[in-house]
Amino acid sequence: MIDAHCHLNFEEFDDTREEIIKESKKEFKYIVDCGASIEGNKRSLALHEKYPTFIKSTIGYHPIYAGVDNKERVNETLNQIVDNLDDVHAIGEIGLDFATARPEDELRRQHNVFHQLLTLACEYDMPIVLHVREAEQHALDIVKKYTSLPDVIFHCFSGKKETAIEAVDYGYYISFATNALFSKKHKQNMKKVPLENMLTETDSPYLSPVKGEPNKPANIRKTIERIARTKNVEFDEIEHITERNAMRVYSL
Ligand SMILES: [Zn+2]
Repeated sequence: MIDAHCHLNFEEFDDTREEIIKESKKEFKYIVDCGASIEGNKRSLALHEKYPTFIKSTIGYHPIYAGVDNKERVNETLNQIVDNLDDVHAIGEIGLDFATARPEDELRRQHNVFHQLLTLACEYDMPIVLHVREAEQHALDIVKKYTSLPDVIFHCFSGKKETAIEAVDYGYYISFATNALFSKKHKQNMKKVPLENMLTETDSPYLSPVKGEPNKPANIRKTIERIARTKNVEFDEIEHITERNAMRVYSL
């Protein structure tokens, strides 16, 4: 099993991280830890350095920060990403976040940084992990113009099924997180997305299926179970295929 996207580097895990990693090693082949800011990227890289064969890292720039940071900070983050590409498996999370109303200049900055990161991903031949909220089709319309991107993952995809289908047509991956356990929309998307284009993740500590508890990689079982029920395919087959997909897209 592989958790294709989580944030074990977050301080929420400072007291439990070692225990969770020890437990996860029994079931998981790899955990893909994701950075979303300069500090988070540093923590993710450090975590990979501590567990080089088990924790794999992706580093990025969350659009919420990209939208408010000044030019120096943007450049600092982009340089950090480029400087560490040898140690990571994708650029992400990056993207667009329109979930809350934001001023025009913030949206413009999100777009600017997004385009810069997409250009870098093409230049360095790196797959990207997309964080997109309330802008899925819009982001797809942007990304598909970057035809030399090696691979695209829609992390925690919560868009419409038409967007999912088009993304699959482009060969992109749709990643289902633990929030897919409870919603009809995600169930529809699970039906439409072929297993070959699917990944599973927890986005820990977010999206916990257990109230009052932070999410953890072990909960990925619940997502795989729901995909298995929805597609009427054995758990083991889903596990096997999504694991293989994660290894392929992240070059693990
Ligand atoms: Zn995330």
